Amino acid sequence: MREGLSAIDIDGSGGEGGGQILRTSLALSIITGRPIAIRNIRAGRAKPGLRRQHLACVIAAQDLCGATVHGAEVSSKYLEFTPGAIQREDLAIDIGTAGSTTLVVQTILVPALAAKRALRATVHGGTHNPMAPPFEFLDRVFLPHLHAMGARVTLTLDRHGFAGGGGGRGIERDVKERGQLTLTIEPGELRPIEVLDAGPITARSATAVLARLPTHVADRELIVVKESLGFAASECSIREVGHGGTGNVLLLEVERAQGRELVAGFGEQGTRAELVASRACADLAAFLAAEVPVGEHLADQLLLPLALAGGGAFRCAPLSRHATTNIETIGLFLDVPIRVEPAGDAVIVRVG
Ligand code: ATP
Repeated sequence: MREGLSAIDIDGSGGEGGGQILRTSLALSIITGRPIAIRNIRAGRAKPGLRRQHLACVIAAQDLCGATVHGAEVSSKYLEFTPGAIQREDLAIDIGTAGSTTLVVQTILVPALAAKRALRATVHGGTHNPMAPPFEFLDRVFLPHLHAMGARVTLTLDRHGFAGGGGGRGIERDVKERGQLTLTIEPGELRPIEVLDAGPITARSATAVLARLPTHVADRELIVVKESLGFAASECSIREVGHGGTGNVLLLEVERAQGRELVAGFGEQGTRAELVASRACADLAAFLAAEVPVGEHLADQLLLPLALAGGGAFRCAPLSRHATTNIETIGLFLDVPIRVEPAGDAVIVRVG
């Protein structure tokens, strides 16, 4: 802890009331050196308190900066976190379940960029979990914007890990075959960017990923994609992985001059492949109809790096509760104004 800095009191039941408040607060605590005390952790959720997934984020943040931590246990609704300076160059984090590795990355990536030090982190757990960014979202949608901001960061998918055939979030479930991703960061500065124009679509693809499921699941999903979105056969592919539990995810990606969007449909036991695909197609169609460059999930994830860069702007559909909650959390730590201006049916978010 930097001596003399008082702790910031955070109410985890505020706004969206989920794990995002915890992750953003941990990240900003490390960035600013301010200790935090979070109460009512995930009070808005059916199983409140820290789950294994969230505990992994706390431990990753602690390992990264040598923080002093109280209350880091499963079910805890109160956490004190006093950060130290980032010294580590190598981190290995094992979530211990198929909980989301990408949400661990969401916790440590921006603080590591802020520290302007090299870091290599491997994270074991789920790489394709419902309600979290699939690996490809971080790699192909989020990271290109960080690269445009000047960050030197790469992610590799070393091994797929699915939350399980039951479609659960895999948070409490131990699996023998966890996935793995590796995050590598080189020191650098972040600069503001503006992402305002949607522009024409330059490429699109549909990939049905299968782990230990019959190929007809992917075939049926891709038939729906072709019929509903008019994708050509050459834009559709199947990726079969022979490890990482049992799972299926349909990834629909569109590329435009200013960036990409990737929509994921997760297969679930008891839900027909056609329904999984038609829901994902509807999500992509809604994004395309909005004619914005930044989708719902990217909007909440871009806020922290832009705030750290001290500025920037993006245009998106009206913000999700995750995003407005993230703005509120950032405001507890940083003196960087974030304004949301109406722009037709969309909004422009201006940072700084
Ligand atoms: P809780 O269990 O409390 O809801 P959590 O920590 O699992 O918490 P959230 O607080 O809901 O998760 O935050 C989920 C994060 O994952 C958000 O940043 C959200 O934008 C992102 N996310 C969820 N689904 C997707 C998706 N399909 N693509 C990209 N990002 C996603």
